Amino acid sequence: LSPRLDSSGTTIFTVMSKLASEHKAINLGQGFPDFECDEKLKELVAKHLKEGKNQYVPLAGLPKLNETLSKKMEHLYGMPINPDSQICVTAGATQALYTAIMAFVKEGDEVIIFEPAYDCYTPQIKIAGGIVKPYIMTYPDYGIDWNKVKEMVTDKTRMIIINTPHNPSGTVLNESDMKSLENIISGTNIVVLSDEVYEHLIFDGENHQSVMQYSALFEQSLAVFSFGKTLHATGWKLGYIVGPEYLIKEFKVIHQWNVFCTNSFVQFAIAEYLAEPKNYEYLPSFFEEKRNIMNELLTGVPLTPKVAKGTYFQAYDYSEVSDMDDLEFAKYLTSKIGVAAIPMSPFYTNPPGDKVIRLCFAKKEETIEAAAERLMKLR
Ligand code: PMP
Ligand code: GLN
Repeated sequence: LSPRLDSSGTTIFTVMSKLASEHKAINLGQGFPDFECDEKLKELVAKHLKEGKNQYVPLAGLPKLNETLSKKMEHLYGMPINPDSQICVTAGATQALYTAIMAFVKEGDEVIIFEPAYDCYTPQIKIAGGIVKPYIMTYPDYGIDWNKVKEMVTDKTRMIIINTPHNPSGTVLNESDMKSLENIISGTNIVVLSDEVYEHLIFDGENHQSVMQYSALFEQSLAVFSFGKTLHATGWKLGYIVGPEYLIKEFKVIHQWNVFCTNSFVQFAIAEYLAEPKNYEYLPSFFEEKRNIMNELLTGVPLTPKVAKGTYFQAYDYSEVSDMDDLEFAKYLTSKIGVAAIPMSPFYTNPPGDKVIRLCFAKKEETIEAAAERLMKLR
C-alpha cells in the first residue's frame, strides 16, 4: 500500500454492488446503465476489430478520433481545440484525473475539492503527496459560496477540482459559478481540473457549463470526459482530457509512462459514431425522461428527492423512515428491501451526518418499476 494512503479501503461502489448481488437486490447503487448501447456502435466496434485495427495507436489517441472530438467540442462550446496538441485519449476519466493530478500536484501542494466529491479525487491527490482541502456542500442545496472558496486559496493551492453536472448530488454549476471561479484563479498558477463526464446528462433546459466556454478560465484548465457515460458503455473504460497545449504537453509526459495509449479498435468505432451529432444530442431528453419516470413511480415512497438537474443520480433524504446512519440504511435497503443504494458519507472527508442516499436512474423502465414496488415497503 502506498504509504501516502491512510487506508486500503474498498470503494463504496464495489461494496454495495457485491452486497446487491449477494441479496439479489435491484442495483440502483453503482452508476451504470442496465440497457445496451446502440447496435450501430457495437457493429462499428466489431467491424474495426475484424478489420484488424488491433495494434497500438498514437499516445494521444487515434488522430481520427481526436479530430471528431475537436469538431464536437467546437460545435458545442465554441472553443477551437487543436486535435494534435490539445487532446489526449485516456483509459476512462479515472486515468485522466489520476494522470492530471500526478502531473501537476507535488508534495505539499493543496487541492480544493467540493464535497460530496466523486470518490477517486481524494486518494489520487494523496498518492501524489497533495493535501486535500474540502469545501463542504450539504443536502438539499449543495450550493457553493465562492467568497468562502476564495478564502480557502493560499499560496500553496495548486489545483481546484470541479465537477458539473455533479456526482453524487445531481446539481449543476451555472454561468455565475464559472465566472466566480475564473476570477478566483486569475493571476494565480492554479490549474482547474474540470470533471465533465456528465456533460450530456443535463435536464430542464439547462445548458452544460464547460470550462471551454470561458477563455481565461480555459487557459488554466483541463476538462475530463468519459465515453462510458456518453455511449452507455462504462465497461469500455475510455475517455479523454482537453486543455491548453502547455498543460496537455505535461499531461502526456505522465500518460506516456502509465499507459502510453489506450484500446485501438474502440477508438476507430467512436471516431465514426460521434461524428454524427444525433448520436449524442438525444441524451438530455433520454435521461430526463428516466428521471421523471423514477420521480413518478416513487411518489408515495417516503424518500425526499433533491430533483436532479444533471447526471443519472438523484439524492434522497430518508429521515422520515429511519434514523440509521446512511451506510447502515443503504445496507438495510439492499438486504431487507431489495434495492441497492449508495450512502453519501463516503464522498466526504468528515461526513456532515445528513440522512441521504443516492439512487441511479440509468435503468430500464421495468427495473425502475420493480425497484419502486419494493421501496413501497418503506411506507
Ligand atoms: N468522474 C465522475 C464524476 C464519475 O461519476 C465517474 C464514474 N463514472 C468518473 C469520473 C470515472 O469515469 P470512468 O469510468 O470513465 O473512469
Ligand atoms: N461512477 C460510478 C458511480 O458514481 C462508479 C464507478 C466505479 O464503480 N468506480 O456510481
